[in-house]
Amino acid sequence: MRAFLIFFLVAFPGINSFCQNAEIVVGNSYFGTTINEKEICDRVAFTTRPEVTMAVENIVKRSGLKQNFYVMECPNTDNCFAATRNGERLIVYDARFFNRLNTVTRTDWAALSILAHEIGHHLQGHTIKSGGSDHNRELEADEFSGFVMYQMGATLAEAQSAIQSVTTEYATSSHPPRSVRLKAIETGYTNARELYPGVTAATDAPVTVAKEMKTGCIAGNCTEGRGTAINSRTFERYEGDWHLGKRHGYGREFSEDGQLTYIGGFETGKYSGNGILFLSNGDRYEGGFRNGKMHGKNSRYIFRNGDILTINYDQGLRQGFGILTRNSGEQSNTYFKNDRRIH
Ligand SMILES: [Zn+2]
Repeated sequence: MRAFLIFFLVAFPGINSFCQNAEIVVGNSYFGTTINEKEICDRVAFTTRPEVTMAVENIVKRSGLKQNFYVMECPNTDNCFAATRNGERLIVYDARFFNRLNTVTRTDWAALSILAHEIGHHLQGHTIKSGGSDHNRELEADEFSGFVMYQMGATLAEAQSAIQSVTTEYATSSHPPRSVRLKAIETGYTNARELYPGVTAATDAPVTVAKEMKTGCIAGNCTEGRGTAINSRTFERYEGDWHLGKRHGYGREFSEDGQLTYIGGFETGKYSGNGILFLSNGDRYEGGFRNGKMHGKNSRYIFRNGDILTINYDQGLRQGFGILTRNSGEQSNTYFKNDRRIH
């Protein structure tokens, strides 16, 4: 982690002396604004939110290409952008920016569409060419975003929501006007629909689900393909892949009040593969699942206070040696047997 910190500090040139002697292209700000490089350099943080990591994996997967960049959270930049440093490619994002954006647009497709746009810059090699943004590159990235959003189950309106709500109709030197960008997203979206006609748009429903709202399969196909269903008893919502009428593939679950409770893999209706489970007490589990239970090597259990227990899970039980990392950074060894702490 410390080595990475040094890497990242030298990655951004600017007033700060840590940041000199590095080449970087910072021109792909989503809204065509100038990015304050000093601010990035001063305030950069070194965590990647797991939701974003998984979203990135999911987006890259749809392109058929391999991920060729790092993802970094960078608070207080109020932005998301693609950048490079000596051929190392980065996606830098501010979680608060995503939250704000999702509040404005009332859909979390907005954040995903911007991530996809920035990823599009990297996958299409824009960030290794000299110079920053230009209109053609922006439109290519928008088209990629539309292409991916269709495959992930967004409606066209959802795929366009970020640009629709936050950009202006006026072109800047770096970014085309809104109407042209909306058209580019539509082009990518339409191309994907021609290639993959089986994907159905998930839902236009707002994140919060009202009790009087209809339950059962409310959008898409909840038997085979992609769809959204609301449990008639608990009002929990599932958005994602279905197979033989069961949650199967990749999906997300939300509580009745619209909070994300799980994101990751499913197999015949149960958590399976990699996922993140958000517990109601504020703790979080990141790691493997099998048959609906926590199961996997070196899983991370992140307590609400920031302490992290890294340990193997076997059929839902903590087993063997683990490492407890306190939020202060202090580490200690621990040992569990059948989910009970021995020392
Ligand atoms: Zn861009």
